[in-house]
Amino acid sequence: MNKEEKFKKSINEFIGSLCEYCGIDKNDSNIKETPDRLYRMYKNELLTGYFKDPKDFIKTFDGISIPNQPVIIEGIPVKSLCSHHVLPFFGEATITLKYKEGAKVLGLSKFYRIVDNFARKLQLQEALTQEIAKFLYENLDLAYVKVEIEAQHTCVGLRGVNVMGNKTKSIVCIGDE
Ligand SMILES: [Zn+2]
Repeated sequence: MNKEEKFKKSINEFIGSLCEYCGIDKNDSNIKETPDRLYRMYKNELLTGYFKDPKDFIKTFDGISIPNQPVIIEGIPVKSLCSHHVLPFFGEATITLKYKEGAKVLGLSKFYRIVDNFARKLQLQEALTQEIAKFLYENLDLAYVKVEIEAQHTCVGLRGVNVMGNKTKSIVCIGDE
């Protein structure tokens, strides 16, 4: 059995025992295909960050990078799963950077792809922010980068302290502003 089949089988078993535990019918028309839906959701959407190399998104152009001129990209969607509870957290990232003189610049859409790629894993918001900042600093010719993420955690909203509308902001800066 390859790892795909193994993964599929264990999701099937998990949903099966969840149904058994709750005393519900796993062959109910709304549940019957749930294991398959979960498998496809993890494989094709929520965990894709483990299978793509973010370096593939580094497509740079000869630009007119002016030293000391900040570039700010706001409203970058962040959709991730917290590694403590495997529940979604989501929000927005803002990236502020300054290229070095003569640096090649990254196409704007690639920032969205890079953030999304790092987010599609089991993550901690703090680690996610750090990974994105470090990656950009190491793979672009930057004097400075700041990554800010503001996110709402469903593991804080739906359980534990049960605070809906919670907001967590994390900030990582590398280089000289
Ligand atoms: Zn959590």
